[in-house]
Amino acid sequence: MLMNILITGGAGFIGMNFVQYLLRNTGYHITVIDSLTYASHPKEINSLTSNSRFRFIKGNIVNNNDIERVMDQQYEAIVHFAAESHVDNSIQSADKFIQTNIVGTYYLLNQLIKGYAKKMIHISTDEVYGTLNSTQQPFTEQSPLLPNNPYSATKASSDLLVRSYYETFKLPLITTRCSNNFGPFQNIEKFIPTIVYSAFNNNKIPVYGDGLQIRDWLFVEDHCKAISLVLEKGKVGEVYNIGGGNERKNIDVVKQILEIMQKPENLIEFVEDRKGHDRRYAIDSSKLQNELGWKQTHSFDQSLEKTVQWYINKFKGASL
Ligand code: NAD
Repeated sequence: MLMNILITGGAGFIGMNFVQYLLRNTGYHITVIDSLTYASHPKEINSLTSNSRFRFIKGNIVNNNDIERVMDQQYEAIVHFAAESHVDNSIQSADKFIQTNIVGTYYLLNQLIKGYAKKMIHISTDEVYGTLNSTQQPFTEQSPLLPNNPYSATKASSDLLVRSYYETFKLPLITTRCSNNFGPFQNIEKFIPTIVYSAFNNNKIPVYGDGLQIRDWLFVEDHCKAISLVLEKGKVGEVYNIGGGNERKNIDVVKQILEIMQKPENLIEFVEDRKGHDRRYAIDSSKLQNELGWKQTHSFDQSLEKTVQWYINKFKGASL
């Protein structure tokens, strides 16, 4: 059967990896809508249009005309990645975050009411759960939503909208909440690309606060595989956590990257901590594993080496 999937934000970090994953591993026909913000990869997304199973439409999910332009057929599913995603930017100004993350999600939900898609997977984040101390158990799908920065507050708001549209209109909606991803195509502003870029140029590497914040890392391809499983077998109305089980202190990740790049640790420079900085994220993915059979297949150490090499190659070509 011909499966038409609409992907929002498919020119960004995870979206781009997901599009490539689906083209490699499935027969789906894919439409991407993306407004091509600074975080996107226009050249790479345009290069995919030579594939007859792929089309790209430049459009903004906060603009109803753009959304209606893309609703020229009924989709089997929408996979909704489009978002403003950088916490530091949301601390500077939350305007775009409120527009894209909340209003944009609301506009898409209205298209589901009109019947343009048979279901929607809403891609969210573990940041909606807030922060953990060192002794607390990892977040489960039942953990309360306690976001601590404007980015995570807008994502939590969109999660609640999605929940309410499931409860009120019985729309076929599923939410996933993933931990920190790493891999190719992440914007230079994010933690791992920043470290590699600074070390590559022998610049100081800025590390927030004491560097002892803990993140639970997941290689982006394992995230793509999880979303693909949720797309095929996920139960509507459910939330699925996706986590790497790779809890690492930020400072340890910096040191590991320096070791891979054979650069000295005296490049590290501790800078004033981010406002409202969450201390620890850890996520319990047992529901996804037990109910949908998801297994992580990439090791943190090997994937980190591969990722670092990918960025080094990009920086040598000066095209990130
Ligand atoms: P990203 O910032 O790299 O990419 C976002 C993409 O959305 C870009 O291509 C951008 O052009 C597009 N976009 C932004 N506003 C738009 C709009 N108004 N209309 C259309 N397109 C728009 O983000 P990412 O890291 O790939 O994250 C994708 C999703 O996954 C987000 O919803 C994010 O909250 C979630 N998430 C990310 C991580 C992570 O570690 N990166 C972890 C968990 C969840």
